[in-house]
Amino acid sequence: MTAALRVDDLSAGIDGKQILRKLDLEIPFGEIHAVMGPNGSGKSTLCHVLTGKSGYEVRGSAQLGGQDLLSLDVDERSRLGLLLSFQYPTEVPGVRLREFLLEAADERGIDPEDAAERIEREAERFGMERFLDRSLNDDLSGGEKKKSEIFQIAVLQPKMALLDEVDSGLDIDAVRTVAEAVEEMRSPDMGVVMITHYSRILNYMEADKIHVMIDGQMVDSGGSELADELEEGGYAALLERLGIEPKPEEGPIRKPSDFFTDTPFDV
Ligand code: ADP
Ligand code: MG
Repeated sequence: MTAALRVDDLSAGIDGKQILRKLDLEIPFGEIHAVMGPNGSGKSTLCHVLTGKSGYEVRGSAQLGGQDLLSLDVDERSRLGLLLSFQYPTEVPGVRLREFLLEAADERGIDPEDAAERIEREAERFGMERFLDRSLNDDLSGGEKKKSEIFQIAVLQPKMALLDEVDSGLDIDAVRTVAEAVEEMRSPDMGVVMITHYSRILNYMEADKIHVMIDGQMVDSGGSELADELEEGGYAALLERLGIEPKPEEGPIRKPSDFFTDTPFDV
């Protein structure tokens, strides 16, 4: 079976600093995988490299639905069906959500009538009707913005959706809402990578697999027991079980449960 996303031996660096180190990852169609890892482990870099952001030196391979990604430019990757949701959705006053989506669908080669139909259908499913004719993200709470983004993905139907920091800065009720929306978005024609600092979002949904990324590598993969282990002992305990020495210059590795003390912003 061709996977939605297949990454082999992917290394990447910027300004002489190596960030991703021979990373492998496979996301089958229809599955939702969580990627967890401490700040600075390279999760956002993985998203940037896959979507084709400039400035990175990249080696290895990445395929979307069996087609090579790394030789394509940003627009081609998006038309092929790769979508990255923004870590902090911006407010765009004056542009209505419906218009924005019709435009985005057009850029992806989706027939306008088909797009209009999908917007109606998915808006009903996600309870987004009342937001369609309001400015994009204007006056939305953090949780509503994330839900809106997930609704947008359901309309655009990419082959592969990357959700970076899906639960950053959200209170616990919003985390639950977002988890339910991600489950609702699940489709047999799409793979999803959901990046999260915290294991608590996984309490409200069924991720098919959890991967742990540390220092630019996937160091472990598993089911919900892996999230439980992280919640219990943090990344430090996981590294100890795997026999990996934490890098001294990285400072203390934070636990996924450092929810309220952690800054929602990456530095
Ligand atoms: P994460 O999303 O897991 O928190 P990032 O991918 O944002 O991690 O960053 C991984 C590492 O790469 C960090 O050490 C970060 O400081 C470094 N990094 C990210 N972007 C750049 C850049 N443009 N130039 C230099 N270093 C960078
Ligand atoms: Mg990040």
